[in-house]
Amino acid sequence: MAVRLDPYEEAKKQLEVTASILGLSKEVYDMLATPERIVQVKIPVVMRDGSVKVFIGWRVQHNSALGPYKGGVRYSPETNLSEVMALAMWMTWKNSLAGLPYGGAKGGIQVDPFQLNQYELMQLSKNYFSAISPFVGVDLDIPAPDVNTNPQTMAWFLDAYESRTGLKQLGVVTGKPLELGGLETRIYSTGLGVATVAQAAAKKLWGGIEGRTVAIQGFGNVGYYTAKFLKEMGAKVVAISDIKGGIYNSKGFDPDAVREYITKKGSGFVIDYPDVERKITNDELLTSNVDILVPAAVENVINASNANNVKAKLIVEGANGPTSPEAEQILVKKQVVIVPDILANSGGVVMSHIEWVNNRMGGWITEEEAKNKLMQKMTDNFNAVWNYWEQKLGGLGGAYSMRTAAQAIAVDKVVRAMKLRGWI
Ligand code: GLU
Repeated sequence: MAVRLDPYEEAKKQLEVTASILGLSKEVYDMLATPERIVQVKIPVVMRDGSVKVFIGWRVQHNSALGPYKGGVRYSPETNLSEVMALAMWMTWKNSLAGLPYGGAKGGIQVDPFQLNQYELMQLSKNYFSAISPFVGVDLDIPAPDVNTNPQTMAWFLDAYESRTGLKQLGVVTGKPLELGGLETRIYSTGLGVATVAQAAAKKLWGGIEGRTVAIQGFGNVGYYTAKFLKEMGAKVVAISDIKGGIYNSKGFDPDAVREYITKKGSGFVIDYPDVERKITNDELLTSNVDILVPAAVENVINASNANNVKAKLIVEGANGPTSPEAEQILVKKQVVIVPDILANSGGVVMSHIEWVNNRMGGWITEEEAKNKLMQKMTDNFNAVWNYWEQKLGGLGGAYSMRTAAQAIAVDKVVRAMKLRGWI
């Protein structure tokens, strides 16, 4: 394994490249690299045996030049402040690139949620949200789900906020259950967005996605729905993996059948699925002989140790930060197209925006309308980044990845908003 770069250092390194392309001064770079506010909170939870356990959580608000802060909250034992700072910065770029009136933020709790029961999780969620309540709000900071958080978590967040403030304000969190102002589309919107940009990229590279082979790392919300929509678009999902390992079948999997089997009959992990040609490791999945690779799990999985062996011609980043900067250099030389996270997985936050607008209007947007809006926006955003990459940075065969193009568009907009506000 290659040495893991500190995530915040990695995010700053990417920003340095963008700053040099845009010709930004050191002062402007520092303004962009430094988060506006970091909130750290103590979260006591009364455990089932009566003992009290203290957890630590963060909300990092990176930049608000474009509007209220927006971004998810993750629960993971690996989460730390540096990771949340990096993710908050990526949210600023993601929201800017997507054309949303939002700044960027991220939250996290260092916890293994699988060790807690529902009652402990409810306390953890409500106490966390209550503690960060003075810093969130429908026009201030709007949290949402991320790794290991879901609509139920958002319902607890909403209730904690409303109890504390005495207000009824559905728009203070997004990704909520249907009964509390959520949209049916939000649960699959990130996966639909990933599949939509994969399709747009495949059209550029091969004229279409039909029959193209795909490997997907991660079979959670993003991985599963990406697989499902890619299959619907005519691609062949030949490899799938999760934390325990992966499965391969050259004839292609039916993602619904895999999900149905592992949740109803198996242990919940894809390696239980019986209809496979062979079982594979996660590293084999990343270097398998496919057209399209979708890392949809965690950061840094494509790194200096395996980038040379990647065979896919197209990588679509479902996860945040799955490709290390060193790996990216290698892949650019190998002329692999990387659709970067801030573009590829922005379907979640785009749908969050639709939910937020709908809540504030007291509206009732239909599933079809919301879905069409999302797909149109993802395709337009993909084309904008692709065109910038080709026209200004040399495109495929040039020295830069599509990430640089996406970041340049996003950062440039934030810089212009900061100038207009008189911050720089
Ligand atoms: N957690 C998702 C992301 O990383 C969604 C954030 C949101 O909807 O605010 O983009």
